[in-house]
Amino acid sequence: MNIAFVGLGIMGGPMAANLVRAGHAVVGYDVSGERLNALAEAGGKAAGSVAECVAQAETAITMLPDSPQVEEVAFGPDGLLEHGRSGLLHIDMSTVRPETSRRVAQAAAVKGIRALDAPVSGGERGAIDGTLSIMVGGHADDVEAARPILGALGTTIVHVGPAGAGQTVKAANQLVVGGIYGLVAEAIVLLESSGVDPAAGLDVLAGGLAGSRILDLKRHTMVKRQFTPGFRIDLHHKDMGIVIAAAREAGVALPLAGVVAQLIAAARAQGLGPLDHSALLKVIERINA
Ligand code: NAD
Repeated sequence: MNIAFVGLGIMGGPMAANLVRAGHAVVGYDVSGERLNALAEAGGKAAGSVAECVAQAETAITMLPDSPQVEEVAFGPDGLLEHGRSGLLHIDMSTVRPETSRRVAQAAAVKGIRALDAPVSGGERGAIDGTLSIMVGGHADDVEAARPILGALGTTIVHVGPAGAGQTVKAANQLVVGGIYGLVAEAIVLLESSGVDPAAGLDVLAGGLAGSRILDLKRHTMVKRQFTPGFRIDLHHKDMGIVIAAAREAGVALPLAGVVAQLIAAARAQGLGPLDHSALLKVIERINA
């Protein structure tokens, strides 16, 4: 299949390479020339603009930082709604506001373009290994059409509802992940300041009802204060903005989401933005210093 891929960063680069490996003809575009060269080395073709990238495509995937970039690539004069052919399947795999996905889907429908929101969980490792979890919003027929392509990128692919629903599920995911990091950080501070070995304490937690994937994967590095990303505080800050906006749009109050968002904002304000989101531990430590 002819696939256009816009946004060849930490996630998009290896995802595009996996599509090449699966036998697709991939034409990519990124504002960074370095990223384009990496795609060419992986066997894809570099385009000079979004318009050129999508011109021959049957499917166009976007993997961009945030809503403004997705809107520019979708709605801009050089963008994919203007230059994509009728019947094009646009799969936006970026993490953006549900409202952005709905607006893209509505505008795409007017042009005869089918749009899905399909954000992912699983990080850079999942992107490289093709083991992402993908939560898809959109029409059921379009999700079925996308399945063979998504199957080259992930192992868990779930149709969760209409346009925007994928982003709402991703927002819920980021809320839970941020909240658990905050609680594990508080548990470490409590254990250490009570003179209890945090490694032994967290081993017990991991085996009981408090157990979680975050405790499984991150408790050792958190106790050792190793915060190499992983998933950066900066990106989680963006995602908590999406959570708060989605809650406002849905007309619900999520008090813990507010606390988690402010703790992550504090991490960023303290200059921890480039570190892994487990660096929330530093914020809790500083509150108690
Ligand atoms: P990234 O910054 O590494 O990649 C984004 C790429 O988009 C960059 O290469 C950038 O040059 C390019 N870009 C920006 N604006 C552009 C434009 N107008 N046209 C073309 N290219 C443009 O980010 P990433 O880590 O790959 O994340 C991408 C998305 O996936 C984000 O929404 C992020 O929240 C989400 N996500 C990331 C992870 C992770 O672990 N990194 C995990 C799950 C989801």
